[in-house]
Amino acid sequence: MSEVIKTDVLIIGAGPCGLFAVFELGLLDMKTHLVDILDKIGGQCAELYPEKPIYDIPGIPMVTGQGITDALMEQIKPFHPTFHLNEMVETIKKVGDPLFRVKTDAGKEFEAKVVVISAGGGSFQPKRPPIEGIEAYEGTSVHYAVRQMEAFRGKRILIVGGGDSALDWTLNLAPLASHLTLLHRRDAFRAAPDSVNKMMALVAEGKIDFVLGQVTSLEGENGELGYAVVKRNDGSTFRIACDALLPFFGLTMKLGPVANWGIEMKDGELIPVDTATFETNVPGIFAIGDINWYPGKLKLILSGFHEAALMSQKAHRYVYPDKRLVFQYTTSSSSLQKKLGVA
Ligand SMILES: Cc1cc2nc3c(=O)[nH]c(=O)nc-3n(C[C@H](O)[C@H](O)[C@H](O)COP(=O)(O)OP(=O)(O)OC[C@H]3O[C@@H](n4cnc5c(N)ncnc54)[C@H](O)[C@@H]3O)c2cc1C
Repeated sequence: MSEVIKTDVLIIGAGPCGLFAVFELGLLDMKTHLVDILDKIGGQCAELYPEKPIYDIPGIPMVTGQGITDALMEQIKPFHPTFHLNEMVETIKKVGDPLFRVKTDAGKEFEAKVVVISAGGGSFQPKRPPIEGIEAYEGTSVHYAVRQMEAFRGKRILIVGGGDSALDWTLNLAPLASHLTLLHRRDAFRAAPDSVNKMMALVAEGKIDFVLGQVTSLEGENGELGYAVVKRNDGSTFRIACDALLPFFGLTMKLGPVANWGIEMKDGELIPVDTATFETNVPGIFAIGDINWYPGKLKLILSGFHEAALMSQKAHRYVYPDKRLVFQYTTSSSSLQKKLGVA
């Protein structure tokens, strides 16, 4: 069992609102750790629309999803937050007044005086293709993400899909695979044109196969895949020998374990908060960003930024019960400027 990580504030979710919370908490001297299920920082902005322009961030006429993530990372640099990616928070247990024990699915344990839930719409989950019996192969032969490329060395790989993930992994895994087939239902792709060109070049060189069609069933034993049965667009079927099937059909959002944390919920999926502090019904646990609810709530990034600022004022009372908080501007406070490394 690894050591318990102690921190002032544990932030669940490294989307834009979780990131800005690091800044507001940091200005008030609170140290933060962030946990996110994704392998990257930025929540919906980085995962769902990295290249799309956003036009309603105050003071920034246009920024992309990835651009706002990068800017927030730059802004929070002075506060040295610690990120724990690829991990899902599974449980929160109250052990003090307030003090919380938070555990992830990777077995990591935190002890935090304050917990901030900025979990957005919940966890991103891969869309499962409609293939009967696919569950029997999940985790052994069917994978919705590539955690370790080496695990695929020497395997006969079948990748399904026409988006960026399917094309990127086709290009990355082709040199490792004993044989690789990319299967897509049509010959138009949603992926970056450069990736499509590179994939076509590999096909032309005879290094991989590209096949039009859809997987209809799987054949194998004890979770080990042997063949995928593929239906061509003309209705005829054939089998592709494969050890690993990687379907990339996009992501959906599911609430995940948030509902089991003993916090009052609205309609089973949102967390009601007090709009003066953005605290939940459990003292010391706050909820900001898309996950919270109050009358008039708008699921906008700017709402989450405001919520992070007010949340930090109340969080300070728990982390420093004996310290008085003096309101200060970053423009004029030399002590805030020192924390930001600009004075
Ligand atoms: C296509 C699209 C366009 C948009 N355009 C705009 C726009 O123009 N302007 C605007 O203001 N907003 C826009 N939005 C909405 C905006 O992206 C959201 O309001 C914002 O991302 C919410 O931020 P968040 O930090 O609350 O949550 P999210 O960005 O959803 O991040 C939450 C994070 O929490 C993680 N998480 C969830 N559960 C757990 C758990 N148990 N353990 C660990 N991690 C967990 C998730 O993996 C995720 O990374 C758009 C959204 C979409 C989909």
